[in-house]
Amino acid sequence: GLALTGALAYSIYELRHPVEQTEPDPEKKTLVILGTGWGSVSLLKKLDTENYNVVVVSPRNYFLFTPLLPSCTTGLIEHRSIMEPIRNILRQKKASVKFYEAEATKIDYEKRVVYINDDSEIKGDISQTELPFDMLVIGVGAENATFGIPGVKDHSCFLKEVNDAQNIRKRIMDCIETAMFKDQSDDEVKRLLHMVVVGGGPTGVEFAGELQDFFNDDLKKWIPEIQHNFHITLVEALPNVLPMFSKQLIDYTESTFKEESISIRTKTMVKNVTDKYIQAEITNPDGSKTLETIPYGLLVWATGNAVRPVIRDLMGQIPAQKDSRRGLAVNEYLVVNGADNVWAVGDCAITNYAPTAQVAGQEGAFLARLFNTMAKTDEIEKELAKLSEQQSQAKSGDDRNQVLDEIRERQKQLRRTKQMGPFQYSHQGSLAYIGKERAVADISWLSGNIASGGTLTYLFWRSAYLSMCFSSRNRVLVAMDWVKARVFGRDVSR
Ligand code: NAD
Repeated sequence: GLALTGALAYSIYELRHPVEQTEPDPEKKTLVILGTGWGSVSLLKKLDTENYNVVVVSPRNYFLFTPLLPSCTTGLIEHRSIMEPIRNILRQKKASVKFYEAEATKIDYEKRVVYINDDSEIKGDISQTELPFDMLVIGVGAENATFGIPGVKDHSCFLKEVNDAQNIRKRIMDCIETAMFKDQSDDEVKRLLHMVVVGGGPTGVEFAGELQDFFNDDLKKWIPEIQHNFHITLVEALPNVLPMFSKQLIDYTESTFKEESISIRTKTMVKNVTDKYIQAEITNPDGSKTLETIPYGLLVWATGNAVRPVIRDLMGQIPAQKDSRRGLAVNEYLVVNGADNVWAVGDCAITNYAPTAQVAGQEGAFLARLFNTMAKTDEIEKELAKLSEQQSQAKSGDDRNQVLDEIRERQKQLRRTKQMGPFQYSHQGSLAYIGKERAVADISWLSGNIASGGTLTYLFWRSAYLSMCFSSRNRVLVAMDWVKARVFGRDVSR
């Protein structure tokens, strides 16, 4: 125990007092990395930064552990527990890395510059400038899809960033307190306490589960008056929720939601959103369609990803991207098709895989390996050039043979480093929390698939997510949040 505490204390000390970093070297190539999400941060983690002048640009100066974001909407987890400052991450690198908190507003491919814009509240003398690059990694993610449906942007909450989760948390309590206001009509109370989630993907399902937990564990105890009217509805256009999971786990999720009295409305496509109700088109069993008006207090919109304008603009500059719709088309080394020395990772890149954190993380790690290898190759090639000069100047045959041996050795090394294969995704499985201390998992370990759901899976889900947290600091904070909520309940203040 004592040894363990000592080791932990030392590793924390080491993290807080890293070694001096080497300064940027203008001789080296400038590698610009856009974004601080799963793709970019996993690249940064494994990249040998001494090989390049690395510059990171993102409007978010932290990494966000998104799998636990739904838990922030109910205050089960405090948002700071799942944020890791990018400065902390960069501080651990051997060579210093520049970070600009800014949004990349335009990438000019021909000129090889990125235009960056500091859109924080406090403005310095310069808040807009350009950043030249030799190499560029784009990991800016995607934005929320609204499909141009009227009213969505104005009236619903999304669930992508920290402030989205905070908005939802406030809105839940707003709805409840307003419903409890003196002389409120029954219909209005019902409307305000109707929590509607649009989109039956993992985001929508996990949020609905967390919200129902909040109601069962805390809300109905603190505010018993809401008991009979608080209700969650999950709306999905397709015939079932969680299409990426197996049939068995879909059934398990649907029956758990039934037990929890969360309504699932499948084959229901939202067409219009106002401040008080949504209008949805329902496909009836006989194929006919009806339009229904559903009043709501809180509306959470979780219908997946759309391409960001900066990406769409770049796609317009590159002829090879003409036929791509959903994002940047990349080759098997994640090079953006038709763009030299530009790579894309995560949700802004189109691969054969779903746009998940797992995929983005592996893509980032792959690029780190690729860039480390490229630097190594450059180094060997330089040495080879030097050696062949030595060879031509060698006086005796013995000298020449010795140099020749060394050349052969280097050439062997070069072949080995150049052998790096293309990106291959290794799927570790899908996991989703569905509420009521239950989770579903499709896990592809070793051989065969394990599909499981239930409390044991939930414990596995908790420990898996805990171990995936970015740092020990995050891990400790998340574990403490869980304990805190168990002991004291969630905080219901607005
Ligand atoms: P998604 O794309 O997986 O699901 C969106 C759902 O919204 C779809 O099922 C779609 O049919 C439905 N939809 C679209 N328009 C609609 C409309 N007008 N009315 C009703 N329904 C409509 O989106 P997501 O859940 O945000 O997930 C995005 C990505 O992130 C996915 O690849 C997902 O696998 C991944 N993800 C994974 C996890 C996890 O593994 N636990 C958690 C969150 C997200």
